[in-house]
Amino acid sequence: MKHRFENFGGIIAGETPPFLAFVDRDYMRSLGLGPSALWQTEDASINRLSAPVEVHMALTNRCSAGCPHCYMDAGSADAEELDTAGMRKAFKALADLGVFHVALGGGEALERPDLFELADFARQVGLVPNLTVSGRGITETVARRMRVFGQVNVSMDGVGEAYAVFRGQNDFKLADRAVMRLVAAGVPTGINCVVGHRNFDQIAALFTYARERGLNEIEFLRYKPAGRAKDRDAFLKLATTAEQNIALTPLLAELSERWHVTAKIDCSFIPMFCHHRPPVEVLESLGTYGCEAGNVLWGVRSNGDVAGCSFLETIGRSVMELAQSPSIIQPSFLNLTTWPHRAPEPCRSCEYLNLCRGGCRAVALAVTGCIDAPDPACPRVAAWNAQENRHA
Ligand code: SF4
Ligand code: SF4
Repeated sequence: MKHRFENFGGIIAGETPPFLAFVDRDYMRSLGLGPSALWQTEDASINRLSAPVEVHMALTNRCSAGCPHCYMDAGSADAEELDTAGMRKAFKALADLGVFHVALGGGEALERPDLFELADFARQVGLVPNLTVSGRGITETVARRMRVFGQVNVSMDGVGEAYAVFRGQNDFKLADRAVMRLVAAGVPTGINCVVGHRNFDQIAALFTYARERGLNEIEFLRYKPAGRAKDRDAFLKLATTAEQNIALTPLLAELSERWHVTAKIDCSFIPMFCHHRPPVEVLESLGTYGCEAGNVLWGVRSNGDVAGCSFLETIGRSVMELAQSPSIIQPSFLNLTTWPHRAPEPCRSCEYLNLCRGGCRAVALAVTGCIDAPDPACPRVAAWNAQENRHA
């Protein structure tokens, strides 16, 4: 079991079965862990972590797929892309900070010839590497080598024709073959589905597909305005509609129960989930969180630069710099992590404020021009804005 101390106690994690838990000081002591210098403060709140729990890491900007909605604007390699030695340093820096998981992607991570060397190194330094791929290049041999990853997710926005909804080209057969090979190789495999208004009606077919292929998890990611999908008007045309935002949670709950396939939503869909008023205590106990950019989560580019998450601009510091001077970590992300203290209405009076944290900053910035605005697609925010406009 891996652990890390925090002011409130600590974080513990294991892989078989996979778990990650935030526990208090007494619980850490009961495990024979501590005391820690971090416990000298009386502040035992869990609001600000010493380092992220999970880091989304773009191993390369290289990708031959050319999808028009790519949030990284991937294509050719970044001129300053870290080489193998540089990536190893970055992984070591993250491990030294106590990070638990690295979600590796790109671009297309498989277009890096040293992918498996890096994954092995991540394991050596105590990180659990997970991977997202398009499915290109996954031969039976490659699939077997993927057992080094905690989980491999194949990007698939729909089944059959619907696969191409954002991508233009239809590589469904290729992605399907990759899924089958990964499952046959015994790799924990899931699907990442970007959800927008044009593939919303195809969600049910994905559950049937996942069941047929023996997958136990689909992660639904909100279509986001970053990279090549940054254009505001295009984003507004392709994102889920207000009705779909409200319908999403009950739909996923029903399909998940029917097909016995776990449905996960990403951080940016939390406002839509909160609309259905789940009990705050239950969400807290399950570790549900909304926008945790710069706190629970970081995004690291292929040149080592750090951002609050993969969809936000970098902060102008590399992961190595932050690891060498941990005291600058919290100040570097204050604009993101202190958002709830200056939240405007209707977030300020929302019972989910400290969980949801106002929705997606990337969407707020692209749609309103202000990174501090409440997420305009949250149903409560949309209703508030409609009322404000009526009064204007
Ligand atoms: S009102 Fe704000 S805090 Fe509440 S759910 Fe919506 S975006 Fe989140
Ligand atoms: S800005 Fe926040 S909610 Fe949006 S993707 Fe990043 S971490 Fe998630």
